[in-house]
Amino acid sequence: MPGHELLGEEEKQALIDLFNQGAVLYRYGLNDRRKNIFRVDEFEKAMASRVGSKHALCVCNGTAALKLALMSVGVSPGDEVITQSFTFIATVEAILELGARPVITEIDESLNMDPEDLRRCFSSRTKAIVPVHMAGVSARMDEILAIAQEKNVPVVEDSAQALGGTYHGKSLGTLGRAGIYSLDIGKVITTGEGGFVVSNDDHVFRRSLEYSDHGHEQNPHVPRGEDTRTYWGFNYKATEMQGAVGLAQLKKMDEILSKQKQNKRAIKERLQDIPLLQFRSLPDPVGDTGDTLIFFLPERDQAKALARKLAERGFGTKNLPDAVNWHFAGTWDHIFKEEKRLFQGNLEARWPRSADLLRRAIALPIMVKMGLDRCDALVDAIHDISRTL
Ligand SMILES: *Cc1c(COP(=O)(O)O)cnc(C)c1O
Repeated sequence: MPGHELLGEEEKQALIDLFNQGAVLYRYGLNDRRKNIFRVDEFEKAMASRVGSKHALCVCNGTAALKLALMSVGVSPGDEVITQSFTFIATVEAILELGARPVITEIDESLNMDPEDLRRCFSSRTKAIVPVHMAGVSARMDEILAIAQEKNVPVVEDSAQALGGTYHGKSLGTLGRAGIYSLDIGKVITTGEGGFVVSNDDHVFRRSLEYSDHGHEQNPHVPRGEDTRTYWGFNYKATEMQGAVGLAQLKKMDEILSKQKQNKRAIKERLQDIPLLQFRSLPDPVGDTGDTLIFFLPERDQAKALARKLAERGFGTKNLPDAVNWHFAGTWDHIFKEEKRLFQGNLEARWPRSADLLRRAIALPIMVKMGLDRCDALVDAIHDISRTL
């Protein structure tokens, strides 16, 4: 949960500079007053180059980015979109906002989309597949991409939590037709609110750009007030403040990733000798951002007890188990009413494998600034507590 840990002088100076250079906070227009400084444009170029994508569009948040990406690959009302049972609720909200129906797969021991279950979720109305790289760890993308190709359905990667992560050397978010990142407070880098659509596909980029800006085509031959348009859109634009802070944060990303990975390695190595702990499987360990360390206990009650005793000693968990209700489809009674009825009121029974894995899981947040002392103290606490379980 690193970006917000490192918000400091560089981001502050970037905002002061923005005010000193004309105080234009809007991303378009007023070229003279802003002295031709366009921070969102610069941030987009830097992001495209960092992740290796032809296009990168910065928007107001990650949920909007996902809606734009899905719409741009062709999702419309009545379609089905397949995603996974373990994700932040925003993934499903973006699908619902388009009038489409979310179809939910089980997860495997990577805690991401289970490719075998993905096969079972297709119908003639399936319009997109959204694997989510939860907590900086990739899904099994080789298998998912192969199935998508066979079925001729586009993949949109929800990489909200996985900026800077890779899969076989390629940036997460750039493997499918489109990908998204989030820049909210819990993500790798942060601008308070913020998001990105990335794609190598010109149509996906143009459609996302135009919809995010009331249909503006940004025709270079006319002033903005006379801009041309083909479709109507909405307003999901980012501000120059997000662009300025984002540029400063992006410069810190390599440091963030290397510190996290170092801390995660130090903690994980020293937990190997506890036979009770089974670690989350990593489809590409090299590409893990190091954001979170997740393991399973044999029994639900043991996981609950471990989390409680860690909290007593001042160590928090990250989403599992503390915010499982915002991250597991099996708790979303307000969304999956039909499924709930089919399973006689027990929505978790719809995804039994996911429920079993998630209810036995502990997720430890890895901080950039935790320092080796804090890592050691955490490891000691887990050793102590595990003897009592
Ligand atoms: C954070 C997040 C989002 C949404 O991003 P916001 O920028 O908060 O709108 C979408 N999907 C996942 C998996 C996330 O963690």
